[in-house]
Amino acid sequence: MFDLHIHSKNSHDSKQTLDEICENAIARGLSGVAVCDHADTWFFDKDRTYDMIANCMNDIDAVREKYGERLEILKGVEMAEYLDYPERAERLLQAHDFDVILGSVHSILYEDITDAYSRIDFSAMPMEKIFEFLGEYFGKMAEMVEKTDFDILTHLTCPLRYINGKYKRNVDILYFKKEIGEVLSLIQQKGIALELNTSGIGNAYGDYMPHETILRMYKDMGGKLITLGSDAHMPQYIGNGFKDAKELLRGIGFHEYCVFRQRKMSLYQF
Ligand SMILES: [Zn+2]
Ligand SMILES: [Zn+2]
Repeated sequence: MFDLHIHSKNSHDSKQTLDEICENAIARGLSGVAVCDHADTWFFDKDRTYDMIANCMNDIDAVREKYGERLEILKGVEMAEYLDYPERAERLLQAHDFDVILGSVHSILYEDITDAYSRIDFSAMPMEKIFEFLGEYFGKMAEMVEKTDFDILTHLTCPLRYINGKYKRNVDILYFKKEIGEVLSLIQQKGIALELNTSGIGNAYGDYMPHETILRMYKDMGGKLITLGSDAHMPQYIGNGFKDAKELLRGIGFHEYCVFRQRKMSLYQF
């Protein structure tokens, strides 16, 4: 298996080195990893994103030979809010030869909400506003899929990790079935893969992103392109929950997963 979504110390919220990533990935039996550090266009200055991504590319170059055939190490980036500052995004994407580009929505400007949703306190927010916010989230995601060029749609329904996981607001995401269906249809039209993100497994959220029902929806719509991503920021979470995730996917009828090299897709049997 490949874990196509791992953060290194070149993300503001991770400290793990390339060696820690590689040694833990090998210990868990993975064949390959994609190191995908944060590129959130809202925070390029604060996060020193151009420098950090350049460091990440250098760090990968420095260890690729050392791990050789024991582990394939792919160059990725987790691009968020591309369309809010397209010139920043394009400058970064042109600066490096990435194997894989993740497309993410982390931040939505809505009324008084002006920060990443991971830092928003949803505990006392009126339910109506939470639903409006989620509506904006799916709309922004659909626009990103339509208008930007990337390989993997990450952690679909991620705000639930905070709204339902951290703040226990019990939102039923299937209220947005139509919007979710639209996103799933758009990724199929564009040949973008859907990530099964396992970072919610083993913590307060306790679920995959997206939930099984949405994976089944995607399958029923003819969706075939799946990747697995732990979104690990710490070594112990590399490949988190992959064994169960693989069983779940096979049970639904997915028999292949995607890997990207120099942005070309290959399919492997589970
Ligand atoms: Zn993310
Ligand atoms: Zn991530």
